[in-house]
Amino acid sequence: MNVLVINCGSSSLKYQLIDSVSESVKAKGLCERIGIDGRLVYQKAGGEKEITEAAMPTHKQAISLVIEALVNPKSGAIGSLDEIDAVGHRVVHGGEKFASSVLLTDEVLAAIEECNDLAPLHNPANLIGINACRELMPSVPMVGVFDTAFHQTMPKKAYLYGLPYEYYEKYKVRRYGFHGTSHSFVSKRTAEFLGLDLKQSKIIVAHLGNGASVSAVKNGACVDTSMGLTPLEGLVMGTRSGDIDPAIMEYIAKKEDLDIEGVMEVLNKKSGVSGMTRGGSSDFRDLQEEIKAGNELAATAVDVFCYRVAKYIGAYTAAMNGVDAIAFTAGIGENVALVRRKVCEYLGYLGVSIDEERNEKTFGEETVLSTDPSGVKVCVIPTNEELAIARETVALL
Ligand code: ADP
Repeated sequence: MNVLVINCGSSSLKYQLIDSVSESVKAKGLCERIGIDGRLVYQKAGGEKEITEAAMPTHKQAISLVIEALVNPKSGAIGSLDEIDAVGHRVVHGGEKFASSVLLTDEVLAAIEECNDLAPLHNPANLIGINACRELMPSVPMVGVFDTAFHQTMPKKAYLYGLPYEYYEKYKVRRYGFHGTSHSFVSKRTAEFLGLDLKQSKIIVAHLGNGASVSAVKNGACVDTSMGLTPLEGLVMGTRSGDIDPAIMEYIAKKEDLDIEGVMEVLNKKSGVSGMTRGGSSDFRDLQEEIKAGNELAATAVDVFCYRVAKYIGAYTAAMNGVDAIAFTAGIGENVALVRRKVCEYLGYLGVSIDEERNEKTFGEETVLSTDPSGVKVCVIPTNEELAIARETVALL
């Protein structure tokens, strides 16, 4: 089966065409600057990246261009549209309605729309992408895979905030968690890779990318995760603050004469390791260079980042009454040895010990980092959200 995986944002759209039998990527790319001017990036497996400036005023036009590129007689990956057997869509917020992937019907789309308030930047864009695909490929089955679904197994004690209960009842204010597709994929793969029985294991996944979250996966089900109602809670991220004293918001609003939107903009876009380095880069490649060049703020920002990750791992060890394995994943988790080393240094009390040399040499590959006598296994497991979406799509169909 050929599954087209679509991850649609407000002005961009990432796609991959995956052969579900061999699990290989036949073609991938993205549309950028949708509604502005438009740029299509297309790459067939084994081929060069092709970049075309092309007007795409709407998402429907962007997806038309993707389909044209996929069936192009010269560089296309398939002969015709008929060879796309299913489309898997990433949907950011499924609220409490969706605890697993679903076939996208009119009723389901209406239910997703009801979650728009919870993710106003993401869900409307996801829906636009789904509707455009349905118009262009009316007979192809479409599946929605939710970032929040994997975390729906959290118990009430983990998802309720210490707020008036009516806010949960009336507005569904609770912890939802995000990156669920990645946490699910990586926890399963960690168990397989380390020879653990997923159904009898305690795994902590540290998904450390530009957005970052930690989750506790007990016996294959998520029991807690660091992101909350929105992806702002938890770890210090590229530009997001993560956990702060909520009273800081009022204090800063008064001092800086900001309204609530202004404060939220600061917490989402001007904080994290970027904000901590006075608006420096949020990219850990740049931060590592800055540290080498003696930039103390960069060193402190990375320390704060790692300390917060280690604190969450400690908390989730308590939540599960133990931990068998810790998996690092996503851009930073897969590539930044310094972060993995610093995080693991805090975990000596759990018996964690990692092979320094192996850690330094690991970039984006499945690797066991822990030493044989380590009390807890530590590994790097590259995430693959597109493949996870394709698998979910095929499983559902
Ligand atoms: P997202 O999907 O949230 O954009 P990713 O998982 O792609 O995040 O991670 C992106 C981040 O990972 C970058 O901002 C950078 O900090 C880090 N990163 C990616 N590749 C490398 C690398 N080779 N070396 C160091 N850091 C990297």
